[in-house]
Amino acid sequence: MNQATSSGKTAMVTGGAGFLGSHLCDRLLEQGMQVICVDSLLTGSMRNIAHLENITQFRFIKQDVCEPLDIKDDLDFVYNLACAASPPRYQADPIHTMMTSVQGTLNLLMLAEAKGARFLQASTSEVYGDPDRHPQAEDYHGNVNCTGPRACYDEGKRAAESLCFDFLRLGRADVRVMRIFNTYGPRMDPDDGRIVSNLVVQALRGQPLTIYGTGEQTRSFCYVSDLIAGMMALMTVAENPKAPVNIGNPGEFTINELAKLVVEQTGTSSETVFKPLPVDDPTRRRPDISRAKALLNWEPTVPLEKGLRDTIAHFRERVADEKGHAA
Ligand code: NAD
Ligand code: UDP
Repeated sequence: MNQATSSGKTAMVTGGAGFLGSHLCDRLLEQGMQVICVDSLLTGSMRNIAHLENITQFRFIKQDVCEPLDIKDDLDFVYNLACAASPPRYQADPIHTMMTSVQGTLNLLMLAEAKGARFLQASTSEVYGDPDRHPQAEDYHGNVNCTGPRACYDEGKRAAESLCFDFLRLGRADVRVMRIFNTYGPRMDPDDGRIVSNLVVQALRGQPLTIYGTGEQTRSFCYVSDLIAGMMALMTVAENPKAPVNIGNPGEFTINELAKLVVEQTGTSSETVFKPLPVDDPTRRRPDISRAKALLNWEPTVPLEKGLRDTIAHFRERVADEKGHAA
């Protein structure tokens, strides 16, 4: 959506103080929109939105989306990103994670219905579980263990998708669902345990780089600016795809290859240590993005080598800040 059509509209961003949500708030404000950021600060941080504090078009509400929302404003768009995304964090309180996706998404869908707002659900490649089809296209129904420790997240997100498509089929809201593949970049929480932030921060702190399992499992890493562009394209495309859309970067890397890149780019002398593979850790993951290309005219533009350099530059400053505070 260009500035002319978006200016003056109001968007709610749940999870807006998190990694992805804070970048989305930035882009929406740049387009002249009013932004209401709702976040419980479970895994997000005021640090991510501190630069928006004095912008009159921006408002922060500290709230858990599992509780009903009392919003007086008119809303044009609701972006639902609220949910812990790192495995150690979403497993810390698994029942709350499930309820965030189920009760939280229901609360927000009802809010969107009441306001006549368009709704976007941040779903995940985790709905494919440990995939026995590769790469993963949207018509693949997945291979998820519904009783394992990742189920609170994977099954929660699957249930959220069901709610979304029921609201759409029933004509209760204009709902769009994006399946996000591993995304990285500035403002990831340095200590939330995800692979890119872990390796980069470990390298910069001079700590051992932790690789789980053999490191031969794969992931496809999307840079945050590409992801947010895809998210906004899906929200604003005139014709509702009425189906989930994968957004991710099809470049596929083993964790060992990623670690090698981090070592090269940081120049660290940290050693590498191998730790046990977490239960149900997917062995491979790569998005088929044909649908996003066809419907949104979207594809990622930032290769891992470039995105990683920018991410490392960001974390270098954070780690230097830590050292400054410790001194
Ligand atoms: P994040 O943990 O940085 O952000 C999530 C935000 O949601 C945090 O600010 C957190 O405080 C907030 N939150 C969590 N539970 C809440 C609740 N019940 N009520 C209100 N706020 C709550 O993670 P992220 O990487 O920015 O992920 C954002 C969204 O994108 C999540 O829904 C996640 O499932 C989805 N996603 C992200 C990735 C990725 O690689 N980053 C991949 C797939 C899906
Ligand atoms: N991983 C790793 N070392 C770490 C953190 C993660 O080897 O310090 C592995 C993890 O087991 C998984 C991959 O990296 O195979 C991606 O993990 P992440 O938690 O970032 O995302 P997800 O598993 O949800 O894709």
